[in-house]
Amino acid sequence: MQSPNAVRHELDSSRSVVALEGRADSERRTEVELTADHNFTLAAGRLGLSADQQLLLRTPFREVKVAVPVQMDDGTLRVFAGYRVQHSGARGPAKGGIRFHTDVSIGEMHALAEIMTWKTALVDVPFGGAKGGIACDPSKLSLAEQERLTRRYVSRIHRFIGPFRDIPAPDVNTNEQVMAWILDEYSSRHGYSPACVTSKPVELGGIRGRSTATGTGIGMVLAEHLKARGRSIRGARVAIQGFGNVGANAAAFIEQHGGEIIAVADVNGGILSSGSRPLRVPDLIEHVRLTGSVVGFPGAMSIDNDELLALPCDVLIPAALENALTESSAGEVRASVIVEGANLPTTAGADRILRSRGIDVIPDLLANAGGVVASYFEWTQNLQQTQWPRQKVNRKLQSYLVRAYRSVRKIAEARDMSFREAAWLIAIERVARAESLRGALSTVKERNR
Ligand code: NAD
Repeated sequence: MQSPNAVRHELDSSRSVVALEGRADSERRTEVELTADHNFTLAAGRLGLSADQQLLLRTPFREVKVAVPVQMDDGTLRVFAGYRVQHSGARGPAKGGIRFHTDVSIGEMHALAEIMTWKTALVDVPFGGAKGGIACDPSKLSLAEQERLTRRYVSRIHRFIGPFRDIPAPDVNTNEQVMAWILDEYSSRHGYSPACVTSKPVELGGIRGRSTATGTGIGMVLAEHLKARGRSIRGARVAIQGFGNVGANAAAFIEQHGGEIIAVADVNGGILSSGSRPLRVPDLIEHVRLTGSVVGFPGAMSIDNDELLALPCDVLIPAALENALTESSAGEVRASVIVEGANLPTTAGADRILRSRGIDVIPDLLANAGGVVASYFEWTQNLQQTQWPRQKVNRKLQSYLVRAYRSVRKIAEARDMSFREAAWLIAIERVARAESLRGALSTVKERNR
């Protein structure tokens, strides 16, 4: 059987990387791809997939790298690197976020696009996987510069996206406003196309509840998991790394359902509730709105990110970026449940340690799938030119996530595997089946016939 490294090597040789803004790609494509390798290989081994099948399932359908020239407010010109990787369209149009971050690289986009393929398959929405981004530091760009950057990026990739080809959504440092610019730029070339992007403002066809859906979904999956373990979200003590869209909305859901947020951290530092009173989430959200950070929240003690990961608590939610839990930090975790709000927050080495320590890890594919499920509702709403009420969105969101959670738990228990292995196994099997039906891949059973 071909080793995963051999598969990676073949993928590498097909890339032509040109260094534009930011660091060279070769410096950065490391840990997230290794984590995806680790997760895929565990499940593919259980499924008995051949090297050919693994190669076909892992190789991205399309990788686009574009130069994005932007005139800055001071009149100078900068050229940013923009990416869009479409990993798979076997089960439907590709789907995935667009992020603005200095660390954006083709390797990172590749791993995150692949995650989307498995995530959409696991929650059984008719999409494939994609991811895109621009290597930039949006905190150093004015709003006008961000708008020009977004529009120029869309002008370079518009032929590769669209309602039945690839549908972007927000990710790190992008939001409803960025989606509105994408809608406008795409529609100016292809005619009014609200279904070309999701998580738009409601006034432009966005669905009510989409902006909170990823965080809400984390809370729903956590509640279901604790119930299955004979526990409750009520009174659960929770620490959250990352207090952006995902972390803040997860915190709000957990607090509303009786959980206690005892600590949070963002890129600037962390805070811990002092005394027995948990942090009050609405006040914290307001503090972040006013100051840009959780740091300095009145009445809380300062901690750093490493301290947050090691706090004694019931639930830890990494909801910032990839590689948050590494071999050096996994041994320090004192939570009994980890819910992966971010994509790929646990490195392969950390995953082994957490498993050996008996800590339940609800994997990213399942935990943060609420966003893409709500995006699917938004897409269908746009295609049908209807508008769903928020209660319907939340009701259906819960039913999709609980169904996915139960199918993962059933496989994990029946086959004595981790939740992560079970989630990847279900997802890979569904995509392999779709590829097989479409003729690109014969399944193991067919080959043995
Ligand atoms: P965001 O930009 O709104 O928030 C990111 C948060 O992480 C911010 O609070 C930021 O300060 C913090 N952060 C960044 N670097 C950090 C560091 N080194 N240490 C501690 N905190 C740090 O982004 P988001 O939309 O909330 O996304 C967070 C994660 O969730 C990402 O991994 C993203 O891919 C994933 N995700 C997002 C969605 C969605 O719908 N937005 C859906 C699925 C998965």
